[in-house]
Amino acid sequence: MNRPPENPLPADDGQQALFGWDDAPAPGGAGGGFRDSAQARRLLDIRSVYAEREALDSPRGRQIMARLPDAEVTEVAGHWRIPSLHGNEGNVARWTRIKTETLVLGVKRHLVTRPNGRSADWIAPGVSNGCAMACAYCYVPRRKGYANPITLFTNIEAILAHVRRHARAQGPKSEPNQCDPHAWVYDIGENGDCSVDALLCDNTADYIAAFRQLPTAKASFATKFVNPDLLDLDPRGRTRIRFSLMPPPDARRLDIRTSPVAERIAAAADFLDAGYEVHFNLSPVVLRPGWQRDWAELLAHLDDVLPTRVKRQAAAEIIMLTHNQQLHEVNLGWHPRAEELLWQPEAQETKRSENGALNVRYRVQVKQRALARLTDLLTTHAPWLRIRYAF
Ligand code: SF4
Repeated sequence: MNRPPENPLPADDGQQALFGWDDAPAPGGAGGGFRDSAQARRLLDIRSVYAEREALDSPRGRQIMARLPDAEVTEVAGHWRIPSLHGNEGNVARWTRIKTETLVLGVKRHLVTRPNGRSADWIAPGVSNGCAMACAYCYVPRRKGYANPITLFTNIEAILAHVRRHARAQGPKSEPNQCDPHAWVYDIGENGDCSVDALLCDNTADYIAAFRQLPTAKASFATKFVNPDLLDLDPRGRTRIRFSLMPPPDARRLDIRTSPVAERIAAAADFLDAGYEVHFNLSPVVLRPGWQRDWAELLAHLDDVLPTRVKRQAAAEIIMLTHNQQLHEVNLGWHPRAEELLWQPEAQETKRSENGALNVRYRVQVKQRALARLTDLLTTHAPWLRIRYAF
């Protein structure tokens, strides 16, 4: 398991900048937008597709494959736990390369909207599972095994029909809550990053368009990727984009392949002006020497650079790091320096989840002290940033 990675990451600089605003093409410009740019291909250069036959034959599957004429296609019985992909221990050493070059297409069979009540009122069925970025703490690979490329679900019409029915059945929201004062909030990106999915297909665009027509509901997704193509999707206030933030020194070590934190912050006003509600996820909060100083700097930076119109509507979630023993083992195979930050047994406790996995989180008192300190820092440096919830 703990063999050396094929492409070891630089000692303390895992985050690779994908693009700068200067050389990103204008959305919808020549070549079809950012998703056709060289910068986008550095994140996703699909050469191999594992696909269910039904997904390949669907309209969305055909659209996706039309953009990938040279990809080698392997037909699979199901998109979940493909033995040669997720079950191949040797793939750990190729963790990020597989994310770049491999795509899975499947049909989402069980369409369920689950209650949440923290970040969102509801967790809607996602249109993807897996991610081309490679945050070392990401919970999505916990049950995946030895690889976690994007799986795109192609039955988008059925997914949207399910969510429309669910939202209409709720009727108007009668009481404000921490999720939103007026709208029922649906998280649409629980197991992936919608901004990155939009480099491959229109699932994100279709979700955003669907919520435009639902006056009592609002879509919400967290992202670590600035995709300028999303600025053209006209959400009309019915989609909340949550840019995830952490101090740049943590992000450089942990947020592999994401847009740099400063770019996420710099994009906030553009997204607001394009019709999104823009919130922030302060997450995950990783405790290590100097964390308070670096969070203070980040919050002061937010205060310095964000225009008033962004601050006026902003809110934030705070999420303390949780980790997982199996993911710890996998990470040691491709990015052991991340584990120096994430795996802190003296400050953490373990809890066995319902599916038997051993999850790891900060001890209760450690977490409570840290949350109190972070709240103080917010009061000092960014008092305009309302906390929707801290977890
Ligand atoms: S952006 Fe989100 S889904 Fe993608 S690797 Fe990071 S935490 Fe996971």
